[in-house]
Amino acid sequence: MTSHNPKVSNNESLFDESRKVIPGGVNSPVRAFRSVGGTPLFFQRGQGAYVWDADGKKYTDYVGSWGPMIVGHCHPEVVKAVQDAAAQGLGFGAPTASELELANLLCKLLPSLEMVRLVSSGTEATMSAIRLARGFTGRSRIVKFEGCYHGHSDGLLVKAGSGALTFGQPSSSGVPAEIAALTTVLDYNDAAGLEKAFAVMGNEIAAVIVEVVAGNMNLVTPKREFLEAMRTLCTKHGAVLILDEVMTGFRVGLQGAQGHYGIKPDLVTLGKVMGGGLPAAAFGGRRDIMQCLAPLGAVYQAGTLSGNPVAVAAGLATLKLVQQPGFYERLSQLAKQLTEGLTAAAKKHNIPFCAQSVGGMFGLYFSKALPTSYAEVMSCDKEAFNRFFHAMLDAGVYLAPSAFEAGFVSAAHSDADIAATVAAADKIFSNW
Ligand SMILES: *Cc1c(COP(=O)(O)O)cnc(C)c1O
Repeated sequence: MTSHNPKVSNNESLFDESRKVIPGGVNSPVRAFRSVGGTPLFFQRGQGAYVWDADGKKYTDYVGSWGPMIVGHCHPEVVKAVQDAAAQGLGFGAPTASELELANLLCKLLPSLEMVRLVSSGTEATMSAIRLARGFTGRSRIVKFEGCYHGHSDGLLVKAGSGALTFGQPSSSGVPAEIAALTTVLDYNDAAGLEKAFAVMGNEIAAVIVEVVAGNMNLVTPKREFLEAMRTLCTKHGAVLILDEVMTGFRVGLQGAQGHYGIKPDLVTLGKVMGGGLPAAAFGGRRDIMQCLAPLGAVYQAGTLSGNPVAVAAGLATLKLVQQPGFYERLSQLAKQLTEGLTAAAKKHNIPFCAQSVGGMFGLYFSKALPTSYAEVMSCDKEAFNRFFHAMLDAGVYLAPSAFEAGFVSAAHSDADIAATVAAADKIFSNW
């Protein structure tokens, strides 16, 4: 659909039309640009580090489909694998050899996976892992941390109650209070708070679920004592530790955040990169827990599209590329060049700004110091970010359209791409 009025952008007319048939004009809320304001971009195509919007404008992409595009858009080997798989059949609802190959590869790359089950989205992975943890332990309560996102299932759309250890409250309309009450929401990076929670209700807790690097409240890195407390307390009280690596898996390194920080989970959830841009996700971990799943055990979980051969092919091709020697060294180096370049540019113009990266993901903050908690993330200057976001967008740089999302680089980004992005920011900061 193209606009005949040259003054109206195709993005705008597509958005107007979309709003008539899709709530908010989008199929996932953050895409609507509500946080930053303005009209969302409709993308036409992507190639390597770049995307083109509906008006044909080119952007250097630091969203990468929210992480999956770690080898860049339309990598020829991934496209070929998808085409070959599609030509063999789009799906069977029956086992295929490629699922076995992917399961074996995941278990080989992540030593904490003794068994794994494929699903189609991160939400499905976390929802299923929690049911499994409850079935395994015979307990109902789960613990999550404020600012961590684990998909949109009922028990995970929960915020803290009025006191630290009170029952969680729904953070979305439509989530029953009775379900939210089974979730305890604690502060991220607060080892003492977690210890207290276990002291009070340790025998009720089925699982603790956490993003090892929190990437859904901008980016917050974990404190060592927080990680250690989680592992020790879960073991001591018989709770299942679920590391939600939907974002960090194959993003911060080949062994995910668990390898990066050396923390051993009981269950792991994966998505994003492991699907190479198509809907593939997984959960897995200890054999004794995974054997509780149907058809072996009594915990029911299923999926018509689970292990879809086209999605599995995209995942396998992507995971083959990330295993190339030096892949993560270069990816980390690119992210570092970006965050260091932006930090230096802001400093030159006396703008309170900082940035950091872990592997191929990064956080940008309009604040004087790196945040270590949800509250500190929330106190960053959101208006400054929004101004920066739009100025960068004008300059042809696509950052996540929210101050509370992590950013991503891909192996397709070149040193020159990063340098151009830093130069664009420098120019914006000089007129700040
Ligand atoms: C994206 C994400 C999810 C949800 O995955 P979907 O595929 O969007 O359902 C869950 N957990 C984390 C940490 C994520 O980043």
